[in-house]
This record gives sequence, structure tokens and C-alpha cells, in this order.
Amino acid sequence: MAKQAAPVKKNETVTLQFEDLTHEGSGVGKINGYPLFVPFALPGEEGDVKVVKVNKNFGFGKLLNLTKSSPERVEPPCDVFYKCGGCQVQHMSYDMQLDMKQEQVKNAMRKIAHLADVPVHPIIRMEDPWRYRNKVQMPVGEKDDGELRTGFYQKRSHRIIEGMETCNIQDEVNDRMVEAVRRIADRLGISAYDEQNDTGVLRHIVVRTGEVTNDTMIVIITRTTELPHQDELVKELIQTYPHIKSIVHNINNRKTNSIWGKTSHAIWGEDYIYDQIGDIKFAISARSFYQVNPPQTKKLYDKALEYAKIGSHDTVVDAYCGIGTISLFMAQEAKKVYGVEVVPEAVDDAKKNAKLNGITNATFYVGEAEKVMPWWTAQGMRPDVIVVDPPRKGCDEELLKAMLGMEPKRIVYVSCNPSTLARDLRILEDGGYATQEVQPVDMFPQTHHVEAVCWLEKNVFNQK
Ligand code: SAH
Repeated sequence: MAKQAAPVKKNETVTLQFEDLTHEGSGVGKINGYPLFVPFALPGEEGDVKVVKVNKNFGFGKLLNLTKSSPERVEPPCDVFYKCGGCQVQHMSYDMQLDMKQEQVKNAMRKIAHLADVPVHPIIRMEDPWRYRNKVQMPVGEKDDGELRTGFYQKRSHRIIEGMETCNIQDEVNDRMVEAVRRIADRLGISAYDEQNDTGVLRHIVVRTGEVTNDTMIVIITRTTELPHQDELVKELIQTYPHIKSIVHNINNRKTNSIWGKTSHAIWGEDYIYDQIGDIKFAISARSFYQVNPPQTKKLYDKALEYAKIGSHDTVVDAYCGIGTISLFMAQEAKKVYGVEVVPEAVDDAKKNAKLNGITNATFYVGEAEKVMPWWTAQGMRPDVIVVDPPRKGCDEELLKAMLGMEPKRIVYVSCNPSTLARDLRILEDGGYATQEVQPVDMFPQTHHVEAVCWLEKNVFNQK
């Protein structure tokens, strides 16, 4: 049957009643059953919308005004919220943000994993959902008069927002460090990278600060191999800010959107800083993944550990192990832990971290988990528990196969994307595992991102 044409045209103004929310926190209103996705609109609201894009089955709109407002609408504390691409849901009460995330996980379980009956526990909220991020990656540009400017990109663009003074989800120290580097670099006459012409020097300033240690690492990313005025810049930074423990120079000489270049070296201090989660201390280098929300990370890992129910005779595999965070927690209870991770610097950190904490029963390997695990299986490794914590795209199919081939009694799946989590759970269910519980954790307040940890048990009679 031929599809009917969309009932709206681009640039038309329509009145909408909003009924629902998209994954990204936009409002959804319908015209004759045709959905329009409208940023900053909330369910229960009504308003006028300018149609900005018309696709076959759905379109996008821009909210012009509200004729009815939701009691869950709040004034975003950030001055640049409506322009910035960083946060999406500051206009929602925190309770509404949590409800949205909870529903997202439930919906993914129902619609994608076909697991309508699996218990999804109430999301673990953050006590104070602001200023939680321990790491910032800030682009550098120039104002018309050549003065350096730092700020996030505007939504769907590479234009730096004007007038961004602070970021309310960022650790205050990091905020101040970005400003300090910008100010000193500006005084020293270091130019900003010009993306269009592929000229200039300074591309990004990255700052990470340890929650417990307060150690700060600054990474300066430049197009050029040399960092002009390096000595003066370093000297002023370390003399003024004694909590800076490491300054790293990363060189990205490619004309690319990606932030990081291939080579990094410390220009002051070590090439890592320390932080601590619970009783375990971690060394973290510039390129290593480390969860951005420390208080919530502790809650997430505690839940993962609880779900793993590790016995003292158990062997555990931690796939996508990063710097060995989850592995080292598990190693305290297990007989042996094997971690696998693709970033070599992260594996170096993981090894260092095992030593640092006197943990001798954890071994770490560099490689793609989907290639290393089948090899382990071939060697006869049969772990009791497997933990996976993949990036947003979820587990590689080969990795899921390898997991099933290892036949662990239990799987713990930590995920930052409910859709790929649900997709992978379906495969594991079909392979003989039963999902027991799902626990969402709010790791990223004010944004639409959702984290969840999930527990699966092998079916007793293994009916595949
Ligand atoms: N469990 C860790 C890291 C989770 S983030 C923690 O909680 O800190 C996901 C990690 O997977 C990143 O460190 C990333 O570098 C790694 N990764 C991505 N693709 C991978 C692959 N194919 N094989 C192994 N590791 C991978």
C-alpha cells in the first residue's frame, strides 16, 4: 500500500499537543498520526511549532511558544542550555528525567529484548545531580578580535557557543583549569586551531580531576608537533595550581573531527594521575576510559559486584575492562580475573593498578574482546562469571557467540545504551541465559544518557 504523504510541510506552523518523549528527550506530538519530534517540549504541554524537517514517517519541529506548560518544566540554570549540545534535559525536573530514563530501559526490555516481565528496578538517582563530571574536553576557537575562546559546540555544529562562562555539570576545578589554560595561552599568543583552513595551533583542552585525590591532569591538544611557549605555559600552570600533577601534550595533525591525535607525551609530571573508588586506587592516563561520575560509579560497580555473586573459587572474565576498574573489584572476591581491553594505554594502567593495590590474581590483555575471547575458549578457559561493559554500540556478535561458547554460570552486562543492551540480551536469552534483573543508574544527570546493569543466569537445563 502506498504511504500517504506527510500531512505537514516544511516551514509551516502547527499547533501540537505533546504526548510522549523521544530517546533524546524531545517532545512528540502528532498531526493525523504523523509524529513530529520537538526539542524542549514535554508531555502534557501544548504549543505552536514550526516544522523544520519532513521525512516520510516522522518530522522535526521547533517550539515557538507554549500555550500549556507542564508542572515538570523547570528553568534551566545554565545560560546556554538551549544552544549547547552537551545537556538535553535541563528543562525537566530531576524526577521527570529519572522517569524518562526508567521508561526507556523498560521499553527497550519490552520492545527490543521481548522481556516484558523482567524486573527493572527504580533508577538509582544522584543526590545532587550537578557538577558531577570529572573530565572535560573543551574545544578552543578565536573571537573576531583573535582572543582565544573556549566553549562547547552548538548543537549539530562545530561553532563554539558564545558567552559560555561555566558548565554546571562539570567539576568546578576543571572549569577553572580550562579557563586558566585559555587565559595563559592567550597571553602567550598561542593561536587556536582553525578547522576550516586547517591552520593554527590549539585544538582542545582536556582536564580530568580525581574525585578523592584532587589530582588534576591537563591535556593540551595541538595541530602542530611543537607546543609554542611550552615551558612558560607549564611553569605558570604548575606554580599557580599545585593540584596539577600531570600535563600531557597530544598531537592531532589530521584534518578531522576527532579530538585526539595518535601521539601523546607528558610535558610535566607523570603521564597519569591517581583516583580512588571505594578501597581501590587507580592510575589513569590521558587516553584511558574512566567513568565520569564518581559517586554514581561506586553505586554502579557495587551493583555489578552484587549481581556477579563471585565465589572464592570462581574465575571471572571482564571484557571491555578499561583500566581494570571492575576487574579489580571482582579480583578481591574471585580466584582469578582476566581482563581484555583494546586501548594499550588502558591495559598498561590496569596492570599498574593491580600492582598498586597488591592484587596478584588479575591478568590483563590488549586486544579486541571479540577476537581474544574465542582464542581463550580454544585454550580451554571456562570462566564462571563474565562481565561485559561495552561502548554504546554494544557487544560485537562474535563476542556474544564467544560468551555463549564459554558457558559461564552467570553474566553481568553493564551498558550505557538500553537499545543495544536489549538487542544483546535477546541473543543471550536465545543462547540459553535468563535475564534476572535490570538496575538503571543515573550516571549522566541533565543529559538523555542512560546506564544500566543487568544480571543473567544460565538456564539450569540449558534448553537452547
Ligand atoms: N569497564 C571499564 C571500561 C568501560 S568503557 C570501566 O568501567 O571503567 C568501554 C571500554 O571498552 C573502553 O575502555 C574501550 O576502550 C573498550 N573497547 C572498545 N571496543 C573494544 C573491543 N572491541 N574490545 C575490547 N575493548 C574495547
